[in-house]
Amino acid sequence: MESLVYNALKEATAMAKGHSDAKWSRRVWELKAAMSAEQFRVVYQPLLNLEKGELIGYEALCRGPAGSYFASPSVLFPLAEKAGLLYPLERQIRRKAVAECGDFLQDQLLFLNISPSVVKDPEFAQGNTRRLIAEYGLRPHNIVFEITERTAIHDFGSFRRTLQHYRKQGFQVAVDDAGAGYSSLQAIAELQPDYIKIDMSLVRDIDASPIKQALMETFVTFGRKIGAKIVAEGIETEKELRFLSQIGVDIGQGYFIGRPTPTGEGASAESIAVLAEKKTRGRPEPLHAVTIGG
Ligand code: C2E
Ligand code: MG
Ligand code: MG
Ligand code: MG
Repeated sequence: MESLVYNALKEATAMAKGHSDAKWSRRVWELKAAMSAEQFRVVYQPLLNLEKGELIGYEALCRGPAGSYFASPSVLFPLAEKAGLLYPLERQIRRKAVAECGDFLQDQLLFLNISPSVVKDPEFAQGNTRRLIAEYGLRPHNIVFEITERTAIHDFGSFRRTLQHYRKQGFQVAVDDAGAGYSSLQAIAELQPDYIKIDMSLVRDIDASPIKQALMETFVTFGRKIGAKIVAEGIETEKELRFLSQIGVDIGQGYFIGRPTPTGEGASAESIAVLAEKKTRGRPEPLHAVTIGG
């Protein structure tokens, strides 16, 4: 009896494994096929200077083929990493972004997300991006490499050296998704980023949350002290935009300002109108005192 149960279990485990192996192989095969057919697209989301109401550039975001398992970058990149295809995939996306952005970029910035393992790759560091952008007439200063706070802080010592290396080559760097996890302001300061992109979890409904307001104001003060521009991402409403611009956040990004599109459409008329109107108003009153615990 015991061995019957044991055998049945063993068989079920082997079937499940076989099944997931087959699924895995199929996904990797599909990924390779999509890469060789160059089916990945890049969409561009505008970033707006909240003081002047001017477009400062675009963030390049990758999209897999519609309907595929890896249409979304949050599925795509972990899959590519596990399959050992991250480097060629990123290279393909970067080349595409740099080649396409010339159609709408006018001496503005192109923000490029870079995976941690690619950032530290010697081939990448030794200037293949510099050669790539030179080919398309862009200058390093127009490129901002985005590295997530999580990875930068996790492997802090080596990232600090790596980011310095890129800055010496003339590139700018941004710490992405800041404030989402366990932020270390000291570590961020030592990375000396040109931009700190605050995660959208701190932006959502900020107009109604005294704690988020306090955190965001802290980032604004901090950014001024260390010479980094503060970017708020994921701005979805007029209220959020109004509040963020009034407390001195430098740059905004989000659906209210503009969705990512293949042709790099600029900022929405609504968002520009909000900023124009703000100039005639003062600083917002704090909602109420922040009390934690009591
Ligand atoms: P991220 O760099 O933090 O990019 C912002 C994400 O928020 C994007 O999701 C964007 O479409 C989305 N977003 C922008 N505005 C709003 C908004 O107002 N509301 C909401 N709800 N979402 C908004 P996406 O394109 O799905 O990308 C997810 C993540 O995947 C990115 O987060 C980035 O870390 C990564 N990623 C995307 N493209 C690339 C790439 O080419 N290379 C690498 N290494 N990573 C990439
Ligand atoms: Mg990003
Ligand atoms: Mg981000
Ligand atoms: Mg984010």
